Amino acid sequence: MIIVMKPHASKESVDAVVNVVKSKGLSAHLSTGEEVTIIGVVGDKTRLAGQNLEIFPEVDKIVAVTESYKLTNRKFHPEPSRVKVKNTEIGPDTLTIMAGPCAIESRDQLINTAMAVKEAGATILRGGAYKPRTSPYSFQGLEEEGLKYMKEAGEITGLATICEVIGTKSINAAVKYVDMIQIGTRNMQNFNLLKEAGQSGLPVMLKRGMSATIDEWLNAAEYIVAEGNPNVVLCERGIRTFETSTRNTLDISAVPVLRARTHLPIIVDPSHASGVRSYIAPLSRAAIACGADGLMIEVHNNPACALSDGPQSLTHEQFAALTEELRPYAKLSGRNF
Ligand code: PEP
Ligand code: MN
Repeated sequence: MIIVMKPHASKESVDAVVNVVKSKGLSAHLSTGEEVTIIGVVGDKTRLAGQNLEIFPEVDKIVAVTESYKLTNRKFHPEPSRVKVKNTEIGPDTLTIMAGPCAIESRDQLINTAMAVKEAGATILRGGAYKPRTSPYSFQGLEEEGLKYMKEAGEITGLATICEVIGTKSINAAVKYVDMIQIGTRNMQNFNLLKEAGQSGLPVMLKRGMSATIDEWLNAAEYIVAEGNPNVVLCERGIRTFETSTRNTLDISAVPVLRARTHLPIIVDPSHASGVRSYIAPLSRAAIACGADGLMIEVHNNPACALSDGPQSLTHEQFAALTEELRPYAKLSGRNF
Protein backbone atom coordinates (compact mmCIF):
# COMPACT_ATOMS: atom_id res chain seq x y z
CA MET A 1 0.00 0.00 0.00
CA ILE A 2 1.01 3.63 -0.29
CA ILE A 3 0.43 6.42 2.18
CA VAL A 4 -0.01 9.73 0.39
CA MET A 5 0.86 12.70 2.58
CA LYS A 6 -0.89 16.06 2.20
CA PRO A 7 0.93 18.60 -0.01
CA HIS A 8 3.96 20.07 1.77
CA ALA A 9 3.60 17.77 4.79
CA SER A 10 6.32 18.44 7.35
CA LYS A 11 9.29 16.14 7.77
CA GLU A 12 8.19 15.48 11.37
CA SER A 13 4.81 14.16 10.31
CA VAL A 14 6.35 12.00 7.56
CA ASP A 15 8.84 10.61 10.10
CA ALA A 16 6.04 9.87 12.57
CA VAL A 17 4.18 7.75 10.00
CA VAL A 18 7.39 6.02 8.88
CA ASN A 19 8.16 5.15 12.51
CA VAL A 20 4.79 3.50 12.99
CA VAL A 21 5.24 1.48 9.81
CA LYS A 22 8.72 0.34 10.84
CA SER A 23 7.64 -0.44 14.38
CA LYS A 24 5.28 -3.04 12.91
CA GLY A 25 8.17 -4.74 11.11
CA LEU A 26 7.28 -3.38 7.67
CA SER A 27 9.57 -1.42 5.38
CA ALA A 28 8.86 2.15 4.31
CA HIS A 29 10.12 3.64 1.03
CA LEU A 30 9.93 7.39 0.61
CA SER A 31 9.24 9.11 -2.68
CA THR A 32 9.62 12.83 -2.19
CA GLY A 33 8.04 14.90 -4.97
CA GLU A 34 8.01 18.68 -5.22
CA GLU A 35 4.74 18.91 -3.31
CA VAL A 36 3.73 15.47 -2.20
CA THR A 37 5.59 12.79 -0.30
CA ILE A 38 4.49 9.19 -0.78
CA ILE A 39 5.40 6.44 1.66
CA GLY A 40 5.42 3.01 0.05
CA VAL A 41 4.85 0.18 2.51
CA VAL A 42 6.15 -3.33 1.79
CA GLY A 43 5.45 -6.38 3.93
CA ASP A 44 2.59 -8.12 5.61
CA LYS A 45 -0.10 -5.41 5.86
CA THR A 46 -2.11 -7.36 8.41
CA ARG A 47 0.48 -6.20 10.93
CA LEU A 48 -1.08 -2.74 10.63
CA ALA A 49 -4.47 -4.07 11.73
CA GLY A 50 -5.98 -1.78 14.33
CA GLN A 51 -3.58 0.99 13.41
CA ASN A 52 -5.56 3.78 11.78
CA LEU A 53 -2.92 5.74 9.91
CA GLU A 54 -5.53 8.06 8.46
CA ILE A 55 -5.85 9.80 11.82
CA PHE A 56 -2.38 11.32 11.40
CA PRO A 57 -3.19 14.96 10.59
CA GLU A 58 -1.00 15.21 7.50
CA VAL A 59 -1.92 11.88 5.93
CA ASP A 60 -4.09 12.54 2.88
CA LYS A 61 -5.08 9.00 1.87
CA ILE A 62 -4.07 5.36 1.86
CA VAL A 63 -4.16 3.47 -1.40
CA ALA A 64 -3.80 -0.29 -1.86
CA VAL A 65 -1.26 -1.44 -4.44
CA THR A 66 -2.72 -4.60 -5.84
CA GLU A 67 0.13 -5.42 -8.26
CA SER A 68 2.75 -7.83 -6.90
CA TYR A 69 5.57 -5.52 -7.93
CA LYS A 70 5.75 -2.66 -5.46
CA LEU A 71 9.14 -0.89 -5.46
CA THR A 72 9.15 -0.72 -9.25
CA ASN A 73 5.52 0.40 -9.34
CA ARG A 74 4.76 3.90 -10.53
CA LYS A 75 2.28 4.24 -7.64
CA PHE A 76 5.21 3.99 -5.23
CA HIS A 77 7.26 6.57 -7.10
CA PRO A 78 5.21 8.76 -9.45
CA GLU A 79 8.21 10.67 -10.84
CA PRO A 80 10.31 8.92 -13.51
CA SER A 81 13.56 7.58 -12.06
CA ARG A 82 17.01 8.65 -13.17
CA VAL A 83 19.81 6.11 -13.20
CA LYS A 84 23.34 7.44 -13.08
CA VAL A 85 26.02 5.45 -14.91
CA LYS A 86 29.54 6.87 -14.57
CA ASN A 87 29.18 10.43 -15.92
CA THR A 88 25.89 9.97 -17.76
CA GLU A 89 22.28 9.70 -16.63
CA ILE A 90 19.47 7.60 -18.07
CA GLY A 91 16.13 9.29 -17.50
CA PRO A 92 13.48 11.71 -18.69
CA ASP A 93 15.74 14.57 -19.80
CA THR A 94 18.07 12.71 -22.12
CA LEU A 95 18.12 10.32 -25.01
CA THR A 96 20.81 7.82 -24.01
CA ILE A 97 22.46 5.90 -26.80
CA MET A 98 24.27 2.68 -25.89
CA ALA A 99 26.26 1.34 -28.81
CA GLY A 100 29.02 -1.10 -29.64
CA PRO A 101 29.62 -4.57 -30.96
CA CYS A 102 27.49 -7.57 -30.10
CA ALA A 103 30.63 -9.34 -28.86
CA ILE A 104 34.03 -8.04 -27.83
CA GLU A 105 36.31 -9.80 -30.31
CA SER A 106 39.67 -8.11 -29.74
CA ARG A 107 41.21 -5.06 -28.07
CA ASP A 108 41.65 -3.21 -31.37
CA GLN A 109 38.14 -3.97 -32.60
CA LEU A 110 36.59 -2.71 -29.36
CA ILE A 111 38.67 0.46 -29.03
CA ASN A 112 38.19 1.30 -32.67
CA THR A 113 34.40 1.00 -32.41
CA ALA A 114 34.34 2.74 -29.03
CA MET A 115 35.98 5.82 -30.56
CA ALA A 116 33.55 5.79 -33.49
CA VAL A 117 30.39 5.52 -31.36
CA LYS A 118 31.65 8.18 -28.95
CA GLU A 119 32.27 10.53 -31.88
CA ALA A 120 28.72 9.92 -33.12
CA GLY A 121 27.12 10.74 -29.76
CA ALA A 122 26.79 7.50 -27.80
CA THR A 123 27.44 7.82 -24.07
CA ILE A 124 27.52 4.14 -23.11
CA LEU A 125 29.69 1.51 -24.78
CA ARG A 126 28.14 -1.94 -25.06
CA GLY A 127 29.88 -5.22 -25.88
CA GLY A 128 29.46 -8.80 -24.75
CA ALA A 129 32.26 -10.65 -22.98
CA TYR A 130 30.05 -13.58 -21.94
CA LYS A 131 27.79 -14.48 -24.85
CA PRO A 132 24.75 -16.67 -24.19
CA ARG A 133 24.69 -18.31 -27.65
CA THR A 134 21.98 -20.61 -28.91
CA SER A 135 24.60 -23.12 -30.09
CA PRO A 136 27.38 -24.28 -27.77
CA TYR A 137 29.70 -24.28 -30.80
CA SER A 138 29.26 -20.54 -31.51
CA PHE A 139 31.74 -17.96 -30.17
CA GLN A 140 31.14 -17.72 -26.41
CA GLY A 141 33.01 -14.47 -25.73
CA LEU A 142 36.43 -13.46 -24.42
CA GLU A 143 35.21 -13.49 -20.81
CA GLU A 144 37.47 -11.63 -18.34
CA GLU A 145 39.96 -10.66 -21.04
CA GLY A 146 37.08 -8.92 -22.85
CA LEU A 147 36.08 -7.08 -19.68
CA LYS A 148 39.64 -5.74 -19.39
CA TYR A 149 39.40 -4.33 -22.93
CA MET A 150 36.06 -2.80 -21.96
CA LYS A 151 37.64 -1.02 -19.01
CA GLU A 152 40.44 0.27 -21.18
CA ALA A 153 38.01 1.43 -23.89
CA GLY A 154 36.02 3.29 -21.21
CA GLU A 155 39.15 4.99 -19.93
CA ILE A 156 40.35 6.02 -23.39
CA THR A 157 37.01 7.40 -24.58
CA GLY A 158 35.37 8.49 -21.30
CA LEU A 159 32.34 6.38 -22.22
CA ALA A 160 30.45 4.48 -19.54
CA THR A 161 30.43 0.74 -20.19
CA ILE A 162 27.89 -2.09 -20.03
CA CYS A 163 28.41 -5.87 -20.32
CA GLU A 164 26.06 -8.81 -19.97
CA VAL A 165 26.46 -11.15 -17.01
CA ILE A 166 25.29 -14.74 -17.00
CA GLY A 167 26.18 -16.05 -13.53
CA THR A 168 28.07 -15.49 -10.29
CA LYS A 169 31.51 -15.73 -11.90
CA SER A 170 30.76 -13.09 -14.53
CA ILE A 171 29.15 -10.74 -11.96
CA ASN A 172 32.23 -10.98 -9.74
CA ALA A 173 34.42 -10.16 -12.74
CA ALA A 174 32.16 -7.41 -14.08
CA VAL A 175 32.21 -5.37 -10.86
CA LYS A 176 35.97 -4.95 -11.32
CA TYR A 177 35.80 -3.62 -14.88
CA VAL A 178 32.47 -2.14 -16.01
CA ASP A 179 29.99 0.59 -14.98
CA MET A 180 26.71 -1.25 -15.60
CA ILE A 181 25.62 -4.85 -16.04
CA GLN A 182 23.06 -6.29 -18.40
CA ILE A 183 20.81 -9.27 -17.86
CA GLY A 184 19.84 -10.74 -21.20
CA THR A 185 16.56 -12.03 -22.49
CA ARG A 186 17.46 -15.67 -21.75
CA ASN A 187 18.07 -14.91 -18.09
CA MET A 188 15.21 -12.54 -17.31
CA GLN A 189 13.68 -15.03 -14.90
CA ASN A 190 16.92 -16.46 -13.53
CA PHE A 191 15.95 -15.37 -10.04
CA ASN A 192 19.29 -16.14 -8.38
CA LEU A 193 21.07 -14.08 -10.99
CA LEU A 194 18.59 -11.23 -10.45
CA LYS A 195 19.27 -11.28 -6.71
CA GLU A 196 23.03 -11.32 -7.23
CA ALA A 197 22.73 -8.44 -9.70
CA GLY A 198 20.78 -6.59 -7.02
CA GLN A 199 23.63 -7.12 -4.58
CA SER A 200 26.38 -6.17 -7.04
CA GLY A 201 26.14 -2.43 -6.39
CA LEU A 202 26.17 -1.73 -10.15
CA PRO A 203 23.28 -0.30 -12.16
CA VAL A 204 21.47 -3.06 -14.04
CA MET A 205 19.78 -3.13 -17.43
CA LEU A 206 17.18 -5.89 -17.49
CA LYS A 207 16.19 -7.04 -20.96
CA ARG A 208 12.72 -8.42 -21.53
CA GLY A 209 12.44 -12.20 -21.70
CA MET A 210 11.62 -13.14 -25.28
CA SER A 211 8.29 -14.64 -24.18
CA ALA A 212 7.72 -12.65 -20.99
CA THR A 213 4.66 -10.57 -20.26
CA ILE A 214 5.17 -7.05 -18.99
CA ASP A 215 3.91 -8.18 -15.60
CA GLU A 216 6.54 -10.93 -15.39
CA TRP A 217 9.19 -8.46 -16.50
CA LEU A 218 8.30 -5.94 -13.80
CA ASN A 219 8.31 -8.70 -11.18
CA ALA A 220 11.78 -9.71 -12.38
CA ALA A 221 12.91 -6.08 -11.97
CA GLU A 222 11.37 -6.12 -8.49
CA TYR A 223 13.77 -8.95 -7.53
CA ILE A 224 16.72 -6.65 -8.25
CA VAL A 225 15.30 -3.59 -6.52
CA ALA A 226 14.19 -5.66 -3.52
CA GLU A 227 17.89 -6.40 -2.88
CA GLY A 228 18.39 -2.68 -2.24
CA ASN A 229 19.49 -1.70 -5.75
CA PRO A 230 17.17 0.98 -7.15
CA ASN A 231 19.30 1.54 -10.28
CA VAL A 232 17.42 -0.62 -12.75
CA VAL A 233 16.68 0.17 -16.40
CA LEU A 234 14.36 -1.92 -18.59
CA CYS A 235 15.14 -2.83 -22.20
CA GLU A 236 12.49 -3.89 -24.72
CA ARG A 237 14.32 -6.10 -27.25
CA GLY A 238 11.50 -7.74 -29.14
CA ILE A 239 9.33 -10.74 -28.35
CA ARG A 240 8.58 -14.06 -30.04
CA THR A 241 5.51 -13.95 -32.28
CA PHE A 242 4.29 -15.89 -35.34
CA GLU A 243 6.01 -13.34 -37.61
CA THR A 244 9.24 -14.55 -39.20
CA SER A 245 10.15 -11.53 -41.36
CA THR A 246 12.04 -10.07 -38.43
CA ARG A 247 14.14 -11.88 -35.81
CA ASN A 248 11.66 -10.85 -33.10
CA THR A 249 8.71 -8.47 -33.02
CA LEU A 250 9.45 -5.10 -31.44
CA ASP A 251 6.65 -4.58 -28.93
CA ILE A 252 6.57 -0.81 -29.25
CA SER A 253 3.44 -0.66 -27.11
CA ALA A 254 5.56 -1.91 -24.19
CA VAL A 255 6.98 1.62 -23.96
CA PRO A 256 3.75 3.45 -23.04
CA VAL A 257 2.53 0.46 -21.00
CA LEU A 258 5.72 0.49 -18.93
CA ARG A 259 5.55 4.25 -18.63
CA ALA A 260 2.10 3.92 -17.06
CA ARG A 261 3.11 1.14 -14.67
CA THR A 262 6.66 1.85 -13.58
CA HIS A 263 9.03 4.70 -12.84
CA LEU A 264 12.05 2.81 -14.19
CA PRO A 265 13.78 4.19 -17.32
CA ILE A 266 13.04 2.44 -20.63
CA ILE A 267 15.52 1.57 -23.38
CA VAL A 268 14.60 0.08 -26.76
CA ASP A 269 16.94 -2.28 -28.64
CA PRO A 270 15.93 -2.25 -32.32
CA SER A 271 18.98 -4.36 -33.25
CA HIS A 272 17.90 -7.58 -31.52
CA ALA A 273 14.21 -6.76 -32.05
CA SER A 274 14.52 -6.72 -35.85
CA GLY A 275 17.73 -8.59 -36.65
CA VAL A 276 17.89 -6.53 -39.86
CA ARG A 277 20.20 -3.54 -40.28
CA SER A 278 17.86 -1.57 -42.54
CA TYR A 279 14.99 -1.60 -40.02
CA ILE A 280 16.99 -0.02 -37.22
CA ALA A 281 16.47 3.61 -38.21
CA PRO A 282 12.66 3.49 -38.51
CA LEU A 283 12.32 1.49 -35.30
CA SER A 284 14.62 3.93 -33.48
CA ARG A 285 12.45 6.84 -34.59
CA ALA A 286 9.35 5.00 -33.39
CA ALA A 287 10.96 4.28 -30.02
CA ILE A 288 11.82 7.92 -29.46
CA ALA A 289 8.34 9.05 -30.53
CA CYS A 290 6.84 6.56 -28.05
CA GLY A 291 8.81 8.03 -25.16
CA ALA A 292 11.80 5.71 -24.78
CA ASP A 293 14.65 7.09 -22.67
CA GLY A 294 17.28 5.60 -24.93
CA LEU A 295 18.37 3.07 -27.51
CA MET A 296 20.79 0.16 -27.61
CA ILE A 297 22.33 -0.31 -31.06
CA GLU A 298 24.86 -2.85 -32.29
CA VAL A 299 27.77 -1.39 -34.26
CA HIS A 300 30.72 -3.24 -35.80
CA ASN A 301 33.79 -2.07 -37.71
CA ASN A 302 33.25 -4.84 -40.26
CA PRO A 303 29.80 -6.45 -39.87
CA ALA A 304 30.44 -8.99 -42.63
CA CYS A 305 33.13 -10.58 -40.44
CA ALA A 306 31.41 -10.14 -37.05
CA LEU A 307 31.55 -13.21 -34.79
CA SER A 308 27.93 -12.63 -33.80
CA ASP A 309 24.94 -10.65 -35.04
CA GLY A 310 26.63 -9.22 -38.14
CA PRO A 311 23.38 -8.88 -40.17
CA GLN A 312 21.89 -6.47 -37.62
CA SER A 313 25.09 -4.52 -36.91
CA LEU A 314 25.56 -1.03 -38.35
CA THR A 315 28.92 0.08 -39.73
CA HIS A 316 30.59 3.07 -38.06
CA GLU A 317 29.40 5.31 -40.89
CA GLN A 318 25.82 4.02 -40.75
CA PHE A 319 25.75 4.59 -37.01
CA ALA A 320 26.99 8.17 -37.39
CA ALA A 321 24.32 8.81 -40.03
CA LEU A 322 21.68 7.32 -37.73
CA THR A 323 22.53 9.52 -34.75
CA GLU A 324 22.43 12.61 -37.00
CA GLU A 325 19.03 11.53 -38.29
CA LEU A 326 17.75 11.02 -34.73
CA ARG A 327 18.80 14.42 -33.34
CA PRO A 328 15.64 16.29 -34.42
CA TYR A 329 13.48 13.47 -33.05
CA ALA A 330 15.20 13.72 -29.69
CA LYS A 331 14.66 17.47 -29.71
CA LEU A 332 10.97 17.07 -30.54
CA SER A 333 10.61 14.78 -27.53
CA GLY A 334 12.30 17.36 -25.31
CA ARG A 335 15.40 15.24 -24.71
CA ASN A 336 19.03 16.29 -24.74
CA PHE A 337 21.15 14.42 -27.19
C1 PEP B 1 22.86 -8.62 -26.32
O1 PEP B 1 22.41 -7.51 -26.08
O2 PEP B 1 24.04 -8.81 -26.62
C2 PEP B 1 21.96 -9.79 -26.31
C3 PEP B 1 22.44 -11.05 -26.31
O3 PEP B 1 20.68 -9.47 -26.32
P1 PEP B 1 19.37 -10.32 -25.90
O4 PEP B 1 19.62 -10.84 -24.54
O5 PEP B 1 18.29 -9.30 -25.99
O6 PEP B 1 19.23 -11.40 -26.95
MN1 MN C 1 23.81 -9.29 -30.26
